[in-house]
Amino acid sequence: MSQTQVTVLDSVRRFLDRRHGLYIGGAWQESDCADRLDIFNPADGQPLASSADASASDVDRAVTSAWQAFSAGVWANCLPAERERILLHFATLVEQHGEELAQLETLEQGKSIAISRAFELGCTLNWMRYAAGLSTKITGQTLDLSIPLPAGARYQAWTRKEPVGVVAGIVPWNFPLMIGMWKIMPALAAGCSIVIKPSETTPLTLLRIAELASEAGIPDGVLNVVTGRGSVCGAALVSHPRVAKISFTGSTATGKQIARGAADRLTRLTLELGGKNPALVLKDADPQQVIEGLMTGSFLNQGQVCAASSRIYIEAPLFDTLVSGFEQAVKGLKVGAGMDPAHHINPLVSRGHQQKVAEFLHDAQQRGAQLIAGDTGPDNGGYYIAPTLVVNPDPTLRLYREEVFGPVVSLIRVDDAEQGLALANDSDYGLTASVWTQSLAQAMEYTRRLQAGTVWVNSHTLIDANLPFGGLKQSGTGRDFGPDWLDAYCETKSVCVRF
Ligand code: NAD
Repeated sequence: MSQTQVTVLDSVRRFLDRRHGLYIGGAWQESDCADRLDIFNPADGQPLASSADASASDVDRAVTSAWQAFSAGVWANCLPAERERILLHFATLVEQHGEELAQLETLEQGKSIAISRAFELGCTLNWMRYAAGLSTKITGQTLDLSIPLPAGARYQAWTRKEPVGVVAGIVPWNFPLMIGMWKIMPALAAGCSIVIKPSETTPLTLLRIAELASEAGIPDGVLNVVTGRGSVCGAALVSHPRVAKISFTGSTATGKQIARGAADRLTRLTLELGGKNPALVLKDADPQQVIEGLMTGSFLNQGQVCAASSRIYIEAPLFDTLVSGFEQAVKGLKVGAGMDPAHHINPLVSRGHQQKVAEFLHDAQQRGAQLIAGDTGPDNGGYYIAPTLVVNPDPTLRLYREEVFGPVVSLIRVDDAEQGLALANDSDYGLTASVWTQSLAQAMEYTRRLQAGTVWVNSHTLIDANLPFGGLKQSGTGRDFGPDWLDAYCETKSVCVRF
């Protein structure tokens, strides 16, 4: 064991050794289905724990529990200040158990313990407290009307926001705790009940969260966690007739499938989907700032970030300088287990995903692409992929157009900013983008013309609870975060009074 390797807490070992069930109605319940889903440690490929493989009838129990809690008004009719107080207490409990949750996240997902502590915990707490505060800031409008009938009648109207009901939250594996909280917190702040389904690859942290929610005083049935396969448990959840709202984060392919089903029932829907995000580097950019910012933007969490920069368009005069700067930076990255914070790049989440990313690289190699690879990591059964730069890839390569979701980034030389902009916008996706320049005028010009839900200037991938986030084109519909975050979890009711 290296000197910097983190020691696993006893509480984490005990949690891993437990037989995990489904959290329904404020209690652990067994699944109807005897099968278990194995969870592996990506750092060495060894089994870590197992979770329940929920059936459609398990999901029905969970949704029924959520619906009964909602109908009884145990949470929706709480005073807003009481909901806020309980949700803030929930955040405090998550903070108190922060190291335990961070270690669980690194062990099941593979990411660096430093990232688990900073993002899955630190940032999540900011989002939790931000959403908790919105509980007491739900507002409508007063509206003057012009209805002329009957003669002499006068009207006053207003709108009020009411919780939609039962929310189905579907979570991917890249930031299991943080993205789970991006669904749980606005749903609860709005007064909804929720059934949440983590990814089958990374269910552990949300299972622990369910217990902390109960300890915080969130009433039984208001937050339920079901674990299982997307095709069974996930499909049953999003098609359940008592679900009023689906909040899905995951791949574009699954998002489209869910949207087709939701259309039949007109279920409310937010989709946070994939990205193939461009960075446009203009010739007056600061090279050091670009390298530092886009190394993080591209390789954070091994590139398993929906917002990651994966296509970097560089104006010709800076191209050679930046390619050699990125090469030096990539070759300086140490690859290894996430439980050692000295490692910059960690394993991918699963063997299946490792193989998928390796296929993208193999295809590029076969077609003669220029690849610059860093450290390949230990040969110990872990799911490692070397961080890789692809220099001037052929635009027909799969890795140039499709979302790789791995530590792979393309560097593309462009003659000028206009050519870079045209190539940047030539994508089915539109989640994020960045422009790198010292010129205010250029920054203003390209933030307007880049087609993305979020555009950064001289940074990339930095998100905040107060900044709306979501995609254009095939990157999704709807926005999370920001002052209007709860709108997606509320219906607007208009009230019209004759007097
Ligand atoms: P995925 O679509 O395979 O799975 C996401 C979740 O959906 C999992 O919990 C899965 O079990 C479930 N699921 C699968 N099929 C389902 C079905 N038919 N019905 C209901 N649920 C189903 O995605 P993934 O591989 O877990 O995550 C990676 C993807 O997530 C990437 O494309 C990434 O860009 C995207 N992502 C987007 C954002 C964003 O905010 N836009 C954030 C993180 C990740």
